[in-house]
Order: sequence, then structure tokens, then C-alpha cells
Amino acid sequence: MKLLKVTKCLNWLSAQNPTMSSTPTLFLFFRRGIPLICVTLSLTAILIHPPSAGWALIVAVALLAEVGTTFYAGAPYVAKRRAITRWDGYWLMFLRPFFRFINLEDRWLRSFCAWNNRRVSKTFKTKRVGKAIVLLPHCVQLVGCQALVVENISSCFGCGQCVVDAAAQAAMNYNWDMRVSPRSRTAYSEARKFRPDIIIAVACPDRLVKGLLKLPEVPSYAIPLDLPHGMCVNTAFDFQRLSQAMNELAETRAAAKIQPLKISCR
Ligand code: SF4
Repeated sequence: MKLLKVTKCLNWLSAQNPTMSSTPTLFLFFRRGIPLICVTLSLTAILIHPPSAGWALIVAVALLAEVGTTFYAGAPYVAKRRAITRWDGYWLMFLRPFFRFINLEDRWLRSFCAWNNRRVSKTFKTKRVGKAIVLLPHCVQLVGCQALVVENISSCFGCGQCVVDAAAQAAMNYNWDMRVSPRSRTAYSEARKFRPDIIIAVACPDRLVKGLLKLPEVPSYAIPLDLPHGMCVNTAFDFQRLSQAMNELAETRAAAKIQPLKISCR
């Protein structure tokens, strides 16, 4: 019964704020809320049962220190990013089965990505990085298209039927390092080899979360895919968001002189 109420409450919150899944609100509500509730309980235990004050105080201080990492920004965040991401990841994975059970898993994962993005944006907006790599999944390419974009994104014929066209144009015009990967594992190894200062990754929320937790040492900006036709088929994403992230987080490079090949494949 209580679970039903919690589910209704979360659904109601989402209904009030349709963009909740693309904001960190849901993740932060639990990430900060649970430790702070435990701190309150520990302090209450000190008042109710003074002999246990020592242990209760240690627990309260440890929890406050733990939740304090969620307020790190700028240089302290960069310095401890690996540990911070791991801790956030533990919370994410610990509560994931609960959100799966109440049918809000996708929102939970998207909210985690939004929380990661907010921290990365705050940190690098003022000090843009030099070496950025953009990772796109192969499923954004229109099914049936023969362009070999996995080998080289500039192989796109520029027909405009999928978002690869805009991405290829931008990669060409602004000298962005961009890869289209058929598998998330390939994308990670591409990213590792490249040794980037930042990764801008587009993928489904599940793969994004795996990437963020597998490569916690590299700051990543995560853009979840839209799945209008279901998983892995003609997926899409907000290209403006990718463009904005690159402009805000990565240093501008000299424009390339080569222009993409324009051939209609309709
Ligand atoms: S824009 Fe056209 S040519 Fe390029 S990948 Fe998409 S469908 Fe293929």
C-alpha cells in the first residue's frame, strides 16, 4: 500500500514536471534525501538514548561527509571525480531495482545522466577543454542506408533523412572528432585510445550509465537517445543539444576547408 503511494507520488511529480526525467531532481531527491534522513535519525537517537551518542555521532558525521560530496564543484570535483562518480553509481544501482519495479527505471537513469551533465557543465563552462570526442551509436543511421558511416562519418551522403547528416556536417565544419560505433564496447575502446579531456556521448540511457561508470576518470556529457521506433532502430537525438554541449565545453577549432560530399540517396 505504501509502495503504491510512493509510486503515485513519483508519477504525480513527473506529471507536474514533464522534464523531470531530464533534470537531476529525481536522482538528487534520493541521493541527498536518504543520507539526510539517516542523519536526522542518528541525531534523534542521541536525544532518545544518550549512551549510544558516540556511535550515533560517528554515523551522522560519516553520512554528512558522504552527502557533502554531492556539493563538490569545479577543481575539487575534477580532482575527486572518479570516486564521486563511483559513489553516485552505487546509489544509482542500489535503487535501480526499486525504480524498475515501479516502472520508472528509464526516468531514474535519465535523471542520473542529467545530474552528471549538470556537474560537468558547471565545471567546464568556465574552462573549456581542448580534446573532445563525440560518440554516436550506429542506430541513429537510417535503416537500409548504405553509407559506411561507422568507418568514417564523412561517408554520409548528406541526404538529410537521419541526424547523421547534421552531425557529419558539424564534424566537418568545426573539426569535431566524432565516431559512430556499432557497439558500446567499441565506443569505450575508441574513447580510451583517443585519451580525450571530455567525452560527449549519445546512447540509450542504459548504455550511457554503463559508459559513465566504466570510464569515471574521463568527464563525460551524456545525451540520451529518443526511441520513437523502439530500441536500436532509427533512433534520434536532439542535435542542438550536442552542438550546444560542444560549443560550451570544448575549445573551438579552426574550421576545416573540406566540405562534405552532397549526394541525394532518395
Ligand atoms: S543522412 Fe542519409 S546518407 Fe547520411 S547516414 Fe542518414 S540516411 Fe544515410
